Amino acid sequence: MAERPTARIQISSESGYHSPQLDVDIRLNTNESPFPPPPGFVEAVARAALTVDWNRYPDRSARHLRSALAQRYDVTPEQVFAANGSNEVLQSLLLAYGGAGRSVAVFEPTYAMYSQIARTTGTRLVQGRRATDFSLDSSSARQLVLDERPDVVILCSPNNPTGTPAANGLVADLEKAVGSYGGLLVLDEAYGEFASESAAGLVSEDRCVVVSRTFSKTWAMAGARLGYLIAPTWCVAELEKVALPYHLDALKLEVGVLALGYVDAMRERVERLVAERERMATALDGLAVTTWPSAANFILLRPDSRPGREVWQDLVERSVLVRDFTTMPGLEECLRVTIGSRVENDMFLDALREVLR
Ligand SMILES: *Cc1c(COP(=O)(O)O)cnc(C)c1O
Repeated sequence: MAERPTARIQISSESGYHSPQLDVDIRLNTNESPFPPPPGFVEAVARAALTVDWNRYPDRSARHLRSALAQRYDVTPEQVFAANGSNEVLQSLLLAYGGAGRSVAVFEPTYAMYSQIARTTGTRLVQGRRATDFSLDSSSARQLVLDERPDVVILCSPNNPTGTPAANGLVADLEKAVGSYGGLLVLDEAYGEFASESAAGLVSEDRCVVVSRTFSKTWAMAGARLGYLIAPTWCVAELEKVALPYHLDALKLEVGVLALGYVDAMRERVERLVAERERMATALDGLAVTTWPSAANFILLRPDSRPGREVWQDLVERSVLVRDFTTMPGLEECLRVTIGSRVENDMFLDALREVLR
């Protein structure tokens, strides 16, 4: 065989994003919704599939979906960009505003896809640090931004995998700093519905703030791959230049609009999950683990007296899968459990009690 071509250096050193998909009874590792979509939704999707012009390319401007989202956030359709999951939104942002000779700042420990997408898009990564309790102090975040002047700053709020919401005033201070030199502030609100605050209302034409959201977590639609960005028109116009033509398939365009007809069901699920989160937090307080306050649909925990990896393995043996962060810098020995249904959470808690004994 001829000599094998090698991939670009930035990506060849990287193993990619991995969350093992194991065959277990209780899957609490990827922050999915434990509930299927509301009754009637899948039937409506099936009906929509019958009306799609499958031999034609879909509406490239995603007009209908963007209008529906615009209405929900009280912005114009030109202030909405949609993509195949919010990961693709983030990738589009770095394709447009990052790349060679440019930089992106993140605050570790945070969502691992930021550094991965920085690498694949050739964007230099600037890593700020959160405090040991994972809070992010406004003045140190601001200082990092003013020193480095990154083209893009990504703040995950609530932060994955720690659950930490942005402190009061942090977004305003970051916006001021980033806006002072012409940078872009990206707020990743993948878990925004579970938190009490959102920055979606800040988006306007003369501000540098954009807000990313997804149907994957709250909307029980991880399988549909749909995310979106609320952003000024000028930003959306740039993202459209880097998106592939017809990147959203015809059925997905319908699926997103249909989902927005179930806002009440979505809210009701969020309330149930938030109540379960508080119940789980209380139960975990009584066990030999350290936890941190979460504003999302998961809780980060660190076993006090056993190595995290052993606890993870013992849970898998009891058919419970949580996320292993034990080797991630800043998260040593930590595991993250997604809030599931009441039954799943009880099974997790029972298994954890046994494992910690
Ligand atoms: C899950 C997640 C996403 C991406 O989800 P998609 O399924 O691609 O929409 C983005 N950001 C954070 C912080 C997440 O946890």
